Amino acid sequence: MIAIVGSGISGLTAGFWLQKQGFDVRIFEQKNHYGGWIKSTAGPLGEIIDEAANGWLNNEPAVDRLIQALGLEDQHLPACDPKSERWIYHQNKLCPAPLTPLKLIKTPLLSILEKCRLLLEPFVSKGPINTEQSLADFIKRRLGAGPLDTLVAPMVAGIYAAHPEDLELKSTFPLLLELEQEYGSLFKGLRKRKRSSPPHLHSLPRGAGQLCEQLAKTLPISLNTPITELKQSQNLWEFQSPSLGRFEHVILAIPAYAQAKLLEPLKPNLSEKLSKIKYNHALVASTLYEHQSLKNKPTGFGALISRQTELLGALGVLFTSEIFPSRAPQNHVLTRIIFGGSRYPETLELDTQEIHRRTRTIHDELFGEHAPPVSISVHKHRSAIPCYAPGHAQLIQNIKEDIQKLSGLSLLGNHIDGVGVKDCIRNAEALTLHLSPILSNANANRG
Ligand SMILES: Cc1cc2nc3c(=O)[nH]c(=O)nc-3n(C[C@H](O)[C@H](O)[C@H](O)COP(=O)(O)OP(=O)(O)OC[C@H]3O[C@@H](n4cnc5c(N)ncnc54)[C@H](O)[C@@H]3O)c2cc1C
Repeated sequence: MIAIVGSGISGLTAGFWLQKQGFDVRIFEQKNHYGGWIKSTAGPLGEIIDEAANGWLNNEPAVDRLIQALGLEDQHLPACDPKSERWIYHQNKLCPAPLTPLKLIKTPLLSILEKCRLLLEPFVSKGPINTEQSLADFIKRRLGAGPLDTLVAPMVAGIYAAHPEDLELKSTFPLLLELEQEYGSLFKGLRKRKRSSPPHLHSLPRGAGQLCEQLAKTLPISLNTPITELKQSQNLWEFQSPSLGRFEHVILAIPAYAQAKLLEPLKPNLSEKLSKIKYNHALVASTLYEHQSLKNKPTGFGALISRQTELLGALGVLFTSEIFPSRAPQNHVLTRIIFGGSRYPETLELDTQEIHRRTRTIHDELFGEHAPPVSISVHKHRSAIPCYAPGHAQLIQNIKEDIQKLSGLSLLGNHIDGVGVKDCIRNAEALTLHLSPILSNANANRG
């Protein structure tokens, strides 16, 4: 029997594939719901509220395999036209994100000098490959400081809720490093690489949470069961109470700080390494307006906030009913404002009334509010997104080496090899493929 601690997408995916391969699995979840950061609910008018993640990118074959195995291919929903406008809110204006060369020339987000500096990029010499350089240092070296505040910081805040200074290049954007090493220039590299269509956001009709619902249907999950102790006796694992069972293998699919806590008595060195991974919080406010309550209807995908502009602690606003029109009732506008991250950590402590006030002020600023919204749903996510800080790749390498020395125990989670839903799905599938022959051999030897 295999125990999986944590019923986020990592734990559910691992459980699903192991069960498909014929193993007995049991999942333990501390909360009263499964899915971790992937949970969707229906609001008062049937609008779909994604409490945290709203989808996944479609450039990961492991996601396609999972969707197919669950029989969800027909429902796999692409977001609106990938070419629809992305905005950067800068100096109190929405500016188109300069994602094409023409837009880059015209953008007000960079000064003429900063644009001229971009032209020097092909002549900047290669940096060393094996460094713990931050994303910010890399950008400044290759492109100048210009794009950092107005282009790079808003974009990475939308993914990692962190500053580019606090993120390690090779753990977060390895492609940039690869292009520099292979072609000596990002621009040359992008031109030479074969053009495939960029990854596109996908989800399911009832929200991203539908994926976890479908997975959970097939799996034995014990909710409201926090695992607080991990011990090994006679080659079997046990938790705090023998009544929870005895297991040949345990997968800890929980955040690094939770893994650190469970492993502290058993493996203090490994626990110490895991506890070095810090997390940022995020707060999501989903708002539903009637069309006529806003002067201007949002168009495009959403807006990220330039680091030179303050918008009441917001990192970005997603125009949900534009991205996935079926998420909102007809003649309504549904949006999601993401607050917080390492840029505005204090927002986590705001009370609901203040978050509602800020949410309405932001809508008024961006679209002109004529009448109050139908509803605002606020979800606070404490210690939600791991920070892949400089040194992260080496730290994870060391953690993997430690875990290889332990038999019967594996780690999964968004702090290892990618924070995206697609990364968690890929890593969980890969772990099950690695474990399958080992567990089968162990079973055969016992039998
Ligand atoms: C606000 C927000 C928006 C996001 N948006 C996107 C997006 O749009 N697209 C995208 O690709 N990614 C997005 N992400 C990232 C992505 O959702 C997460 O990285 C991913 O869902 C993490 O899955 P996980 O299973 O590794 O961990 P979690 O989802 O953290 O699951 C871990 C589970 O373990 C449980 N647990 C913890 N400790 C114990 C214990 N001791 N005993 C039992 N259970 C325990 C927890 O309760 C939780 O259910 C977003 C994240 C956040 C926070």
